Amino acid sequence: MKITIRQDDFDRIVQHALAQKPDEACGLVAGIDSPEGVREIKKVYFLTNTDHSNEHFSIDPREQLLAVRDMRANGFAPLGNWHSHPETPSRPSEEDKRLANDPHASYLILSLAGEGNPVLNAFHVEGGQENRTVRKEELLIIQEGREMAETGITVDEKIDITDVVCPVTFVKTKVALEELDEGQILQVHLNSGEPVRNVPRSVKEEGHQVLDLRENEDGTYELFIKKVGD
Ligand SMILES: [Zn+2]
Repeated sequence: MKITIRQDDFDRIVQHALAQKPDEACGLVAGIDSPEGVREIKKVYFLTNTDHSNEHFSIDPREQLLAVRDMRANGFAPLGNWHSHPETPSRPSEEDKRLANDPHASYLILSLAGEGNPVLNAFHVEGGQENRTVRKEELLIIQEGREMAETGITVDEKIDITDVVCPVTFVKTKVALEELDEGQILQVHLNSGEPVRNVPRSVKEEGHQVLDLRENEDGTYELFIKKVGD
């Protein structure tokens, strides 16, 4: 099972959990449920831990009801809950395991134990009361509108200039760069030969930063440019 959360939602969970310290913070997650594919968290609810404890939590039932109503109003499916571990690792405690009884739910646990290095993991339960096992889910933190290229460079826009020849290759690259904001990254798919000799050089002459140039197996190239100036 795979579940995604947006970077800004992750950041908000961390901020909220830090503010609730030393108590555990808790809430619900809702979004798009896909039993076979990826579950997508669209909304995070920040609810009161009525236990006010740093070892366990109970979600305020009234707030939970309001959150579920809000999910319905927005057309979101309930995906599970989240809570923080202020002092302990990001894995279910014995009590968490005992209380985790919904095989359809994702249980997200944020650990604040590593100072400045919050860790979020997602789990689900399998089996019945007697043979219950907890399994880790694959959790992806998504930076909206951004895609990680294979290089680990976060790309904002991609263009393909293999269908044109010089100097149109550079013109297309220049136009694409004009659309970007300062600091954003353009990935250019280009041919070997003239384009790969000319485009990176012209881009540098315009003052932009060439981050990487990689050759593909088919002899084409990927050029990564960081826009400098506006
Ligand atoms: Zn816990």
